[in-house]
Amino acid sequence: MAESFNILNIGIVFAAGFLRTKLRKQMTQNLISVVVPCYNEAECLSPFLERVERALADVPDTEYEILAINDGSKDHTGAVLEACRLQNPRLGVIEFVRNFGHQAALSAGLVRARGDAVICMDADLQHPPELLPELIRSWRQGFDVVQTVRRTQPGLTKSLSSRAFYWLLNRFSEVEISSGAADFRLMSRRAVTALLALPEQSRFLRGLVAWLGFPCTTIEFDAAPRYAGRSAYSLKKMIAFAVDAVVTLSAQPLQVALWTAALALLLAVAYAAYVLSLMAHGIPLVKGWASTIFLILIMGSVNLLCTGILGLYLRAVLAEIRKRPEYVISRYLAPAYDPGLHGTLPSDDGRVRTEVGGRS
Ligand code: UDP
Ligand code: MG
Repeated sequence: MAESFNILNIGIVFAAGFLRTKLRKQMTQNLISVVVPCYNEAECLSPFLERVERALADVPDTEYEILAINDGSKDHTGAVLEACRLQNPRLGVIEFVRNFGHQAALSAGLVRARGDAVICMDADLQHPPELLPELIRSWRQGFDVVQTVRRTQPGLTKSLSSRAFYWLLNRFSEVEISSGAADFRLMSRRAVTALLALPEQSRFLRGLVAWLGFPCTTIEFDAAPRYAGRSAYSLKKMIAFAVDAVVTLSAQPLQVALWTAALALLLAVAYAAYVLSLMAHGIPLVKGWASTIFLILIMGSVNLLCTGILGLYLRAVLAEIRKRPEYVISRYLAPAYDPGLHGTLPSDDGRVRTEVGGRS
């Protein structure tokens, strides 16, 4: 009897020890969420997921989940993601009703990410997954934002347009954004919470993260060429993106409009004084056709320029007033993997979660 009691006791002590060790291990583990917007990335996804998993497998004290956002792809990205999710329970899939754009996809991922740190990166393998352990290391050193910066950019057009974009942005914007800053960054939980709390509808994340001003460090990398497919950013789209970025981050173009108008007014007054002085000296004024046309053209263009700049801001204000959600989700397949500590993660019960709604 006493013997069996002893065996029971030893068993209990062992079980308690085992549970304690497990709990302690879980308590020191961090959950990392990787957020990946995907638009027509069917061919890139398998190698992408493979490289991310390989990169994160050996990071100590870390669990991870991957949230892929299918941003209304026209190829079979959705089907590939679903198949990958069956293989990999750490993968969650957010599907948009249609294409809402890269920034909206990032926002949707940030809202659903549960990680202690969230890493955003592209699916086309231009952002090397091998850099992930370094990002996590910098975060563990105490940085809330670990921003990556492209050292080089493949392709002359892309590299020139990227340089022009950052020049324009830093010329006008009220926050400093490192030239070549990519949407490949790690954010701590508190940085993500602060970012999501910002009320803006139009969200140029690079600018907003810089505006928040959390302790930040940068890591340089060489952007690889796209693994497969084509960039979704045509020159036209990039110009629209740059204009949106400047308008949402800065009111300085309005001042430029004001100064240009003031300069034009000054020139007009000077010209009027010149004409008056000619009249005073009795010089005939019949020959003024060219200068009149010149003046009309100058004043007309200045007017149009200023109205155009006002229009851009009016459009931005309209977007804010409408308060339309940034995106609409058709369904959300949560990661099936439950890392234990984060008990709120939905487990895979085979059901498809369908929800419609945006960030706000
Ligand atoms: N992307 C997206 N929605 C879009 C355009 C792009 O989710 O409307 C994703 C795309 O799948 C990729 C990332 O955003 O993961 C960056 O896009 P892309 O590679 O086309 O841009 P680039 O690297 O050429 O600037
Ligand atoms: Mg790319």
